[in-house]
Amino acid sequence: PRPLEVLNRTLEETKLQRQSVAVGEAVVHWFKRDLRTFDNRALSMASAKAKSKGVPLICMFIVSPQDYQAHLTSAPRVDFELRTLEVMKEDLAEKDIPLYVTTIEERKNVIPHIMQKCEEWNAKHIYCNIEYEVDELRRESKLVKKCLDQGISFTAVHDDVVVPPETLVTGAGKQYSVYSPWFRAWIKHIHEHPHLLDAFPPPTPNPPTARQLFEPIFASPLPTTPPNKSLTIEERNRFASLWPAGEHEAHSRLTRFLHEKVGKYKETRNFPAHNSTGLLSVHFSSGTLAARTAIRSARDINSTKKLDGGNLGITGWISELAWRDFYKHVLAHWPYVCMHKPFKYEYTDIEWEYDDAKFEAWCEGRTGYPIVDAAMRQLNYMGYMHNRCRMIVASFLAKDLLTDWRRGERYFMEHLIDGDFASNNGGWGFSASTGVDPQPYFRIFNPLLQSEKFDEGGEYIRKWIPELAGVVGTAIHDPYGRGAGKVAEKAGYPRPIVDHKMARERALARYKEGLGRS
Ligand code: FAD
Repeated sequence: PRPLEVLNRTLEETKLQRQSVAVGEAVVHWFKRDLRTFDNRALSMASAKAKSKGVPLICMFIVSPQDYQAHLTSAPRVDFELRTLEVMKEDLAEKDIPLYVTTIEERKNVIPHIMQKCEEWNAKHIYCNIEYEVDELRRESKLVKKCLDQGISFTAVHDDVVVPPETLVTGAGKQYSVYSPWFRAWIKHIHEHPHLLDAFPPPTPNPPTARQLFEPIFASPLPTTPPNKSLTIEERNRFASLWPAGEHEAHSRLTRFLHEKVGKYKETRNFPAHNSTGLLSVHFSSGTLAARTAIRSARDINSTKKLDGGNLGITGWISELAWRDFYKHVLAHWPYVCMHKPFKYEYTDIEWEYDDAKFEAWCEGRTGYPIVDAAMRQLNYMGYMHNRCRMIVASFLAKDLLTDWRRGERYFMEHLIDGDFASNNGGWGFSASTGVDPQPYFRIFNPLLQSEKFDEGGEYIRKWIPELAGVVGTAIHDPYGRGAGKVAEKAGYPRPIVDHKMARERALARYKEGLGRS
């Protein structure tokens, strides 16, 4: 059985037993990747439970360096989380709700620590939102039982996605693996169950006595960044100014985007120089903004008050956000994608090139393909890359360099501030033609044509590759091929590390051979 099935079953089987647990002296909400107080399902449930029983709510967050290592969480992302916790600690304190944050070095000690704290606080109810990665689902299933053995009720609920995984099935009762029919089913389901987009109320204040009771938690500073994820001061300042943290920032970004940009989103979203997308992915992936909140807000400004019809920009944006749900449904249904396996089994046996020098050139933005290099430099500087460029560089790595796409997937997770396993794995699978709903392997992006089409005037390239700032006209897309070689060479910009035409033929042959073998 799939780990999500096991967790759902465990929760169902223990429902009555969990409900009958006496309340104790506190209720705990365990924050994970849901770092917000507004529209947070588990937090709202924990708060309601605490209020109904007249006991305080305590929030907790565990900094787990081993989990960061296992999930390849990037240092900017960890820094973003810690900055968010600072904001949350203050917000919660205004409601007399303590936020307990501590570092637990070894993964295996996280659960015992939570149990020990519950004992100390005499808390008998723990709430959290479900994460869909295999390890997390398995951990939660164990925790439900372990907690019950100790007289504690542990409740995990769906919150990260608008429609819970395993809800939408094809006419034949199967999980969808193609986005378009899945998307139609997703819209239909939400229109039939509009409560799925309702907001969960923020936590109500604790009784003022909670202040004295938990004074040491209110007074304690947040832990410092774990050494395996530390940033230099210069980097920290840069990420703090590029990506201010916390849910207030997320809400003001959302409001600005919906007022100023979403209307033109459909026409502009593919052009990386236009700054026309929401830039909210870091907020969705760390949970400072719920996808539900964003979709509801977009729906409410649509003339139809629905997820379809009306303004094309709004519905286009909603359909992009739906990809997020789609990939989490895929992950929950086919958990093996979490285990370094391609979704399409027949693509297991492609013979990859293992050329470290070329891989490093790709990582550092030195491939000699300006659009690829601009994008990789954007990633390395901002912890973010525009969606069109993510597709271009992923295709370039897997097809032109014939490098195992999992190396790129890993590099992305280690550098993205918005790294999200399901979306990243889905995006790489799509681009390398090994995933759900992929582009067929014989459709190979031509980086030059992509560059001309989506960065026509070369603004994006010039912004990220200062060496090419002096190159004029269309030579910006291919300086060595279009008469600007001297300028590029003088500025130290590399020649192309691979010939696209040759690389295309090679990729076609290798993919075909790989398919033939399996
Ligand atoms: P907008 O255009 O404003 O879109 C709104 C939101 O919709 C995004 O914030 C995101 O949550 C969601 N979304 C949009 N496109 C996609 C998509 N293709 N797949 C899933 N969700 C989507 N997104 C991540 O959040 N984390 C990742 O680790 C990640 N890795 C990717 C890797 C590859 C190879 C590719 C091709 C795409 C990846 N994406 C990932 C999806 C997408 O590129 C980003 O979500 C998007 O660029 C974020 O910018 P934005 O917030 O301005 O997006």
